[in-house]
Amino acid sequence: MTLTAGPIVTVMAGRRDASWYSRPDTHRVKVWHVVVGNSPACNSTSALIAAFTTRDAATIPVESRCRRLGCQKRWPAMKQAVR
Ligand SMILES: [Zn+2]
Repeated sequence: MTLTAGPIVTVMAGRRDASWYSRPDTHRVKVWHVVVGNSPACNSTSALIAAFTTRDAATIPVESRCRRLGCQKRWPAMKQAVR
């Protein structure tokens, strides 16, 4: 039996850039969202996806990851343990 893995898809993560808001939310820690297509997987801020900078999701520290439904189950394992 042959397993075809298909193309290796890197899960990308994006963080909302709030710097252009007149009143940016500076009270909460900025979390990274898993980006699916052009939207965060949790779909909380899909209108703002243009302001996202994306990174390889496996490099995002666990404490900075969005824990909402949708994002939560899509996070890959960390590439390296960063403590
Ligand atoms: Zn999210």
